[in-house]
Amino acid sequence: MAGSEAPTDAPQQTDLDRCVHCGLCLNACPTYRELKVEMDSPRGRIYQMVQVANGAPITESYIGHIELCLACRACETACPSGVEYGRLVEAARAQIEHRTRRPLATRLLRKLVFEYLLPNRTSLRVAGSALYLYQACGLRKLVRGSGVLKAMGRIGELEPLTPPVERPFFYRHIGRVFPAQGQRKHRVALLAGCIANICFARLNEATVRVLQANGCEVTIPERQTCCGALHVHAGLRETARRLARRNVDALLDGGFDAVLTNAGGCGSTLKEYDELLEHDPQYAARARRFAALVKDVNEFLAASELNPRLGEVRATVTYQDSCHLAHGQRVRSAPRQLLQRVPGLTLREMSMSDLCCGSAGIYNVVHTDMAMALLEKKMRSINATGAGRIVTANPGCMLQLRVGVTRYGHGQQVSHVMEILDEAYRAPKPPIESQ
Ligand code: SF4
Ligand code: SF4
Repeated sequence: MAGSEAPTDAPQQTDLDRCVHCGLCLNACPTYRELKVEMDSPRGRIYQMVQVANGAPITESYIGHIELCLACRACETACPSGVEYGRLVEAARAQIEHRTRRPLATRLLRKLVFEYLLPNRTSLRVAGSALYLYQACGLRKLVRGSGVLKAMGRIGELEPLTPPVERPFFYRHIGRVFPAQGQRKHRVALLAGCIANICFARLNEATVRVLQANGCEVTIPERQTCCGALHVHAGLRETARRLARRNVDALLDGGFDAVLTNAGGCGSTLKEYDELLEHDPQYAARARRFAALVKDVNEFLAASELNPRLGEVRATVTYQDSCHLAHGQRVRSAPRQLLQRVPGLTLREMSMSDLCCGSAGIYNVVHTDMAMALLEKKMRSINATGAGRIVTANPGCMLQLRVGVTRYGHGQQVSHVMEILDEAYRAPKPPIESQ
């Protein structure tokens, strides 16, 4: 099946038929809440998919409504009829990709980003080093202070969204095996991500330390690659399949108890490799076994006996659900349970913590206005809690929330659950006998 269009690369009639058009999902949908336009609601989008399935042409208007969707899957949680909307919108985007031809400049840019940058360590290393130089040598300060960004139009608007690069990159750990602290209880593999290797190197290191502290021998498999989540969301399912096969080959036969990720967005796609490769006779069974091994790191730790040797982290935090962790993987309580185990830490819930912050992969770059409108509202909910730290479980959300703090916040620190746990394990602890 490699290289050809799989039968599921268009919305399936059985999936479309599940929608009874009740509208109970509308209020959960960020784009509908913002625009109050039926065609930008889950029900409206499904209606348009049905029209296309019945022979209507794929128009610019249809593409616009499908692409304005965040693929956050909040509608899936809200739907009483079990509509798998994530599956539908990903298939609709794949169908658009197969049936239409984008302008040349867009095609070239997409090819560059999705084919040559994200799955390629050398390209990412080079791009990361160039960005690091720009950010560290004072050029960024100069550019931002000079007003030149205003004259650069769209590129100037996007510059403040570029993620900070962290040297040294996590690539130096690829291929390594980190021993468990104390008795080994588990052998796990950690997927390091793609951009995370250059922008979340310290988070990945903190994740390894937390796992080690919990009796895990952690392998960072050499042949792993980008999980393909951004490709699936962009409708590039064939490229995603290629990446999925490579990850299955790199990890499945390592004898690991679990394949872990600290990124809600990646985890959701990794757990759905079985669907992605369901029509591939060579890989379908292997992909099913692989998907069953994948766990979000919060989910894995909350289900294990957590090492209780946690020191104090004096902070009031609020937790922002990652859409793909909460709606895609249905993991909501695990990160909260872990946070509640940290001495000194107070968790204050914000209203609608599972409403999208506007990050959604590269959505904030492509649909910046909508992403910022959602972010402003999200920050209002966060500010109302009075928490000094915002905690989440997805690097993409962290980037967006950091922009939110700069634009609409009160100087809050943005952290991942694993960074909080790492701080707690490194903090001074009372002697064992007095615990
Ligand atoms: S995935 Fe999110 S943005 Fe898209 S229709 Fe569902 S709730 Fe709305
Ligand atoms: S997706 Fe579900 S909740 Fe939304 S209109 Fe269809 S059946 Fe109702």
